[in-house]
Formats: sequence, C-alpha cells, structure tokens
Amino acid sequence: MRAHKFDVIVVGAGGSGLMAALYATKNAQGSVAVISKLYPTRSHTGAAQGGVGAALGNVDEDSWEWHMFDTIKGGDYLTDQDAAEIFAKDVIDAVYELEHMGLPFSRLPDGKIAQRRFGGHTREFGKAPVHRACYAADRTGHMILQTLYQNSIKEGVNFFNEFLVLDMILEEDADGGQVCKGVIAMDIASGELHTFHAKSVVLATGGNGRMFKVTSNAHALTGDLTAIAYRRGIPLEDMEFYQFHPTGLYKLGVLLTEGVRGEGGILRNGAGERFMERYAPTIKDLAPRDIVSRSMYMEIREGRGAGPNKDYILLDITHLDPKIIEERLPDIADFSRTYLRVEPTTEPVPVNPTAHYTMGGIPTTIDGEVLWGTQNNEIVHGLYAAGEVACVSLHGANRLGTNSLGDLIVFGRRAGVAAAKYANENALLPITDDVARRAEDLISRTRNASGKESVAKIRAEMQQSMQDNASVFRTEETLSAQVEILRGLNERYTQIGISDRSERFNTEMIEAIELGFLLDNAETLVHSALNRRESRGAHSREDFTERNDPDYLKHTMIYRKEIGHTEIKWRDVVLGKYEPKPRVY
Ligand SMILES: Cc1cc2nc3c(=O)[nH]c(=O)nc-3n(C[C@H](O)[C@H](O)[C@H](O)COP(=O)(O)OP(=O)(O)OC[C@H]3O[C@@H](n4cnc5c(N)ncnc54)[C@H](O)[C@@H]3O)c2cc1C
Repeated sequence: MRAHKFDVIVVGAGGSGLMAALYATKNAQGSVAVISKLYPTRSHTGAAQGGVGAALGNVDEDSWEWHMFDTIKGGDYLTDQDAAEIFAKDVIDAVYELEHMGLPFSRLPDGKIAQRRFGGHTREFGKAPVHRACYAADRTGHMILQTLYQNSIKEGVNFFNEFLVLDMILEEDADGGQVCKGVIAMDIASGELHTFHAKSVVLATGGNGRMFKVTSNAHALTGDLTAIAYRRGIPLEDMEFYQFHPTGLYKLGVLLTEGVRGEGGILRNGAGERFMERYAPTIKDLAPRDIVSRSMYMEIREGRGAGPNKDYILLDITHLDPKIIEERLPDIADFSRTYLRVEPTTEPVPVNPTAHYTMGGIPTTIDGEVLWGTQNNEIVHGLYAAGEVACVSLHGANRLGTNSLGDLIVFGRRAGVAAAKYANENALLPITDDVARRAEDLISRTRNASGKESVAKIRAEMQQSMQDNASVFRTEETLSAQVEILRGLNERYTQIGISDRSERFNTEMIEAIELGFLLDNAETLVHSALNRRESRGAHSREDFTERNDPDYLKHTMIYRKEIGHTEIKWRDVVLGKYEPKPRVY
C-alpha cells in the first residue's frame, strides 16, 4: 500500500475537476493533486460539442436575468434560484477567463466570440430564441478540456492518471456530523492500492449514462462516486431526473449537438412534417430537450415515425449552406457519414433520443459543500462536489443545453476555492490503519469472483430494462417492474465470475466493479421515480401527467438502507423572484 498526503485532492479531470484544481492551486497554501481513472484529456468533457451558454450579447441583446429565468423555467421550477442567479452572472466572466487562458473560440467577423442559438435559451423571458451559446465549431468541450489541462500543468497541479477511486475516507466527527479525510484509489497499471490523505476532497467524476442501452455517454461514465457516496450513507438528490437528448444517431446514440438545430436544422416526422410547430409553437425545434424528446416519441407512437419500421425521426439540414455545415458543424457531419453512411448536406439524418445527462447527483450547497442531511448546515466537513456528479441544484428537473459546460466552470471554480479555504483553515486529521479495508475487500472479492453469472450479460439486461422501463416515459407499472428486475440483477451480481486474476491493467475486474456502481445508480433513479407521482421536466409519468406543485415542488433525497431498500426524504427548493408557472414555449 502506498500513502500520499495533499492539502486538496480532486477526483476527476474533466472540466469541473480541472477548474476546481486550478482554483484550489491558486488559493491553497499547500499542495493539490488530481486523481483520474482516465488520462485527463480523455474525460467526457472533451466530447462536448455545441457550446457554453453565457449572456455576452455578442450577436443580439442579452442579459444574465434572461439566462437565469430560462434556466429556472427550463428546470420546470425545481431549480434552486440562488444557484441559477450566481450561475447566470458568473458564467459570463468565466467564459472570458477561458478566452484569456487561450481557448480558441469561433469568432464573429468583428473578432468577438461567436454565439449561436440553443434549446430553451430566449430573449425577454421567452419571446424568441437568442444567440447565447459560445462555441469552438462543434468541438467546444475538447477546447475547454485542452485549455484547462494545459493551464493546470502550467500551475503545477499534481496528476495521478489512470487511478481508480474506490472509496472515501469518511468518518463521524465529534458532533455527530461527518468528515472526509481523503480517498482510496487503485493504480490501474499495477493493481496496487494507494491512500490519499487530505484536508479536503473535491468530487468531480461526471455522469452515469452507461446504465441505459442507447446513450451519448462514453464507456467510463459509470457513476462511480455517486454510488460510493450512496454506499457510505450520503444521500443522492433528484436522481429521477435523467435527460434524454433528442438527437442521437439512430440505434447508436452517438450525439448530434443541439447546435445543429441552433444553426437552423429541423426535425421532421415520416411524412416530412415539421411536427415541433404543434408542440412548441413559439420556439419549435429549439424547445428544451425534455419536450422535444417526448414529442418525438409521441410522433413515433402515433405511427408517424420515419423509415421502414416508422421508428425514428429525421434531422434535416439539407437546406443549410454546406459551407456553414463544414465550418460550424464539421464533426457531426462526419459522424453521420461515418456511422450511418448518410450525407447530411443532401439527406436527412435518422435520429432518436439518447440517454445523455443526469440532473441529479451528490447534493451540495452553492459552494460545493456536500450534504449528508436535507439542511444546508448538515454538511460533510472537507468534502465538495462539482460538475455532473453534483446536484447544486442548477438544472432542476431538466437541464438546458450549454448549461453543463457553464456549470463546470462556475461551480468547479467555487468548489476549488472553498476546498482550498477549508484546507488553509484546518489541520490534517489523523487516519487509522484500516482506512483501505473496504476497498481491499471490494478488490479481492471481485478479482477472485468465481460464480457463474456474466458481467456483460447483467450489464446488457440492466441497460435494456432501464431503457424499456425508466427512460422518457414511466408508469407505476414499469417502474415497479424495474425495481424487481434490479433486485434480481443485484442478486445475480453477487454470483459473477471473472477469469482474469492478474494485477496489472485488469480491465475485466474494473468493468465488474463499474457494473456494481451502475446498478446502484439505477436503483436510486428507479426508486426516486416511483416515489414522485407527478410529471415534471424530464420525469414524465403517464399515470400522473400533470406537474403537482403543492405536493412535489421539492427535491428528492434518497438514502440507502440496504441493497434494494431505500429511504426517501425531501429538501426544500430555493424559490425566488420567478414564481412557478405553467411551462409553455
Ligand atoms: C457527447 C456529449 C456532448 C455534450 N455537449 C455538451 C455541450 O455542448 N454543452 C454542454 O453544456 N454540455 C454538453 N455535454 C454535457 C457535458 O459535457 C458534461 O456534463 C460535462 O462535460 C461533465 O463534466 P465533468 O467535469 O462533470 O465530468 P467528465 O468530463 O465526465 O469527467 C469525469 C472525470 O472523472 C474521472 N473519474 C470518474 N470516475 C472515477 C473514479 N472512480 N476514479 C477516478 N476518477 C474517476 C474520469 O477519469 C474523468 O476525468 C455533452 C455531453 C456529451 C456526452
């Protein structure tokens, strides 16, 4: 066992982790390290395409208040309004900061950062779409990640790459609360466990889309730290709100950015009709994602899908100038050519909704402090979270496109600053000799697993059943069925067998561990969804089709009692000047 000591540890090297690490380094008196299971520039942030939303007003008039309002309405009023206000104001300056760090944004003829339209982003509180997404062609996330990584190297951040975090060092403190003293990670190259002892820890480990069959998410997005937090008694917030992005390539789920519609792309049904005019008469194809994804499935259900089996929708950009496509959307044009052999400049592209983003996650205050209870003062001392793994809650029941990249830089920065401040003000607390016991057990149990069940089969059944029972539409019946399916899969998971017993790069063992994390994420989603008997944002119950503010204008906080058994508590939504109204576009 190897042991390390740092002032601040950041787990995850995507946009949120690197932003936190940069700011922790600038503010901490001691050392900062980032631990990442992937080489940093392979983090999913690098796959983000369309843009980062900020009210710069470079193309048309814009204001942070309109952005704040759009975010809250987009979140179906479950968004905490204090978080939305900080976000809409701070993201402007955060985008300029990225520009000054060297990020090569696409430009307008006058040299300013180019901006395009995106779903749910409007001017004057819903009047018309606004150009708010700052972009670097359709490689915005790639540019953000490279820029932040280069700057982290420049600032002297320490990196432990290809280290898989398996547990947190979490203890009760004197007054019955909790304190985090570091993490335990396995060096993937050697299989050796390392103890990372720290004054404060920031979790920035991204999403969990791999619990669904058709997803835009990379293979590594297995919800590791949401599962670890949940196992260790930390609640997860609003896990029922899972976003399906309208335009994934048919059957594959590979994402075609909403920027395609921002540039003028149109969704058509099998009859060639622009059906979004019926569902969202004002902003049509640029309605928020929950609404567009549902509308697409309604068209398919009613027999108006495209193709021989009428089971997909068409994304049409044939009317756009091919020069604009090559300049602003080069990657998505290539995806469609490479994966579907469709030439997007002359034929419409077959698409369907794809599992994309979790609005829920580890609950935090606006400074990234992780909660163990339902109140803002019930925080785990020394533990912070930011980015997709966290739930601030900025996105409420449905995230607007471009608001995740903004979330990473605004709340990643705040978490980094807060974690550094905590480290400066607190001593390194002692840890006991057995801190790695849980992680050791997990590894030896998994590496030596010799049962009959196959990891790949359980994973495939989980992904297919989650897609069938807990995706865009849900009912009591499908969710209850899914609770039982997951119980069965969990049972079988205890009987898995793996064949590779080696220490080095044991990816078979890692996949088995990740499947355990995914099953826990699925459990929290399904139980939370069953408990919320209303429809709001991305959570659409066919047996409770209306939003129900009197009973459910509150955040779900799910705790694990034992595997398959949960307890749900509620947390108040931070309301403010924008009162809940019917959500029409
Ligand atoms: C295809 C695609 C396109 C997108 N386009 C946009 C867009 O245009 N605009 C927008 O706003 N949003 C977009 N999003 C969403 C946005 O990109 C993500 O929500 C965001 O990048 C997540 O960043 P993150 O820092 O939270 O995590 P990630 O970038 O996913 O990074 C997670 C990090 O955690 C590490 N990690 C995970 N588990 C462990 C573990 N157990 N131990 C150690 N390290 C671990 C990984 O190595 C990685 O470094 C897109 C998402 C996808 C999938």
